[in-house]
Amino acid sequence: MGVVFSEIRLDTGKRKELVDITEQVVSAISKGGIRNGICLIHSLHSTSALIINENEDGLRMDMLKKVSEEYPPGIGWLHDRIDDNADGHLAGAFIGPSITLPVKEGLLVLGTWQSIFFLELDGPRKGRRILVEIMGER
Ligand code: ZN
Repeated sequence: MGVVFSEIRLDTGKRKELVDITEQVVSAISKGGIRNGICLIHSLHSTSALIINENEDGLRMDMLKKVSEEYPPGIGWLHDRIDDNADGHLAGAFIGPSITLPVKEGLLVLGTWQSIFFLELDGPRKGRRILVEIMGER
């Protein structure tokens, strides 16, 4: 049984943005040496989220539109009195900061049309941190 930690760092360029981090997670698994187990991916920020879905240009825009419709900015949220990003906190809270995926025979198990996205909800930001913890048998 083994446990391996690594961290993904990224800069974002827009207020709301989807960043595909699949390659970085796949790389962490190949370096980690765990053959069978699970991979926890966890964002360390309260104005972000992680999701799994298809990386298609139109769908990425649809997902961002949906987030803005569900959690509109500037409609009198109380937290906006402090730092004007309540919409980002709310989306982050309800979409969620973590995902867990299977690792089988040294490979991340994802469907053909599944990619892992970091969802920026209050960018642009530098040095966003995502923890990757891989647990299982070597
Ligand atoms: Zn805030």
